[in-house]
Amino acid sequence: MSTTVAAYAAPAPKAPLERTTITRRAVGEHDVLIEIKYAGICHSDIHQVNEDWGQAPFPMVPGHEIAGIVTEVGSGVTRHAVGDRVGVGCFVDSCRTCVNCLAGNEQYCLKGMHATYPAGPDGQPAYGGYSTHIVVDENYVLRIPEGIGLDVAAPLLCAGITLYSPLSHWQAGPGKKVAIVGLGGLGHMGVKIAKAMGAEVTVLSQSLRKQQDGLRLGADHFHATSDPATFTELAGSFDLIVSTVSATLDMDAYLGLLTVDGTLVNVGAPAEPNSVSMFSLISGRRSLAGSMIGGIRETQEMLDFCAAHGFGADIETIGVEEINDAYQRVLSSDVRYRFVIDIATFAA
Ligand code: NAP
Ligand code: ZN
Ligand code: ZN
Repeated sequence: MSTTVAAYAAPAPKAPLERTTITRRAVGEHDVLIEIKYAGICHSDIHQVNEDWGQAPFPMVPGHEIAGIVTEVGSGVTRHAVGDRVGVGCFVDSCRTCVNCLAGNEQYCLKGMHATYPAGPDGQPAYGGYSTHIVVDENYVLRIPEGIGLDVAAPLLCAGITLYSPLSHWQAGPGKKVAIVGLGGLGHMGVKIAKAMGAEVTVLSQSLRKQQDGLRLGADHFHATSDPATFTELAGSFDLIVSTVSATLDMDAYLGLLTVDGTLVNVGAPAEPNSVSMFSLISGRRSLAGSMIGGIRETQEMLDFCAAHGFGADIETIGVEEINDAYQRVLSSDVRYRFVIDIATFAA
C-alpha cells in the first residue's frame, strides 16, 4: 500500500519551499522503506528549484543526500535489514544492463539514471529527501558504516562522492599537488578527502575569509582568487585542480595553474556555458575534464574510506522551517560547510 508522508516542497519554480504531503509507493519485493533522519542541502537543489538546468516538474521535493534507518524491507531484499543505517544519493535506479551500469558507473547509464528527484528518465515526477520517508530499490541503497553519525554522513552521498570519484580517478595521493576551487559543501569534502589520500592540498577561495577553516580541514595552503598575484605565484604548479564553483569561471586563468599534463576537473554545474581558449590547453598538454557523482560501488567505497579516516562532513543542522534561509546563505557562499535538515523537526 502506498503511504502519504510529510515533505517540504517548492510549489513552483523559484518559489519558497513549504510544507506539504507526498505519496510514496508501496514497498515492492526488492524495495526498502527508509525513515529519513537527515537530508543535506546541495547547491544542486537550489539550481533545480530555480530551473537553472531547464524545466522540471513541480511541486518539487529536493534532497539527494539522504541518511536514515531501514524500517521495512520487501520479501526479496537481501542487502539490507530493518534497523540498518543507510543512505541514498542522487539516483535510485538505472537500466542495469548498459556498458556503464555493468562497469559500476550507473551515474552515466546510457538509458539515463533514474534521479532521486525531480524526475525519472520517463519524465515522471520523483520526490527527494526533504521528507520523512522514502522507498528505494535495495541495490541503490548504501550502507552507512558504524562510527559516522547519520547527520555528518548525509552530505557524503552527494558532496562526498562527487569529490572522491575524480580525486580517486585522477590519483590524488602522495607527491601530487591538488587544488580545490571553492570552499563550500563539495569543496570542503574535497579538502578532507584529498588530504586523507595523501596529496598536498591547496584551497583556492574567493577571499581569505575561510582560511582558518580551510587549514583546519586539512589544507596545506590557502589562496584568495580575488588577488591577481595568486595566479602568477601559482602558475604551472598543480597536477590536479578540482573546481566546485557553482558559477562560470575564468577557466583560462585556472588552466594556467596546471603543470604540463595537469588536469582541471570541473564538477560545478552553472547554468551558463563557459568559454575556454584552446591555447590554455595546448600550451601545456593540459586536460579539461568533468565528473558527475559516482557509481554505487564507488559510493560505498567512499563511505568506508571516510569512516576509516574518521570523518564526515562539517555541518550546520537546521530545522525544516529554516530551509529557505539556508538556501539564501548557500547562494551568498555563507555555508560552513553543509546545511543538513534534521527531519525530526517535521514533527515540531
Ligand atoms: P556551495 O556549497 O555553494 O559551494 C560552492 C562554492 O563555490 C562557494 O562556497 C564559493 O566558495 C564558490 N563560489 C560560489 N560562487 C562563486 C563565484 N561566483 N566565483 C567563484 N567562486 C564562487 O555549492 P556545492 O553544493 O558545493 O555545489 C557546487 C556546484 O557543484 C554546484 O553548481 C552544484 O550544482 C554542483 N554539483 C555538481 C555535482 C556533480 O556531480 N558534478 C554534484 C553536486 C553538486 P568560496 O567562498 O570558497 O569562494
Ligand atoms: Zn548534490
Ligand atoms: Zn545503464
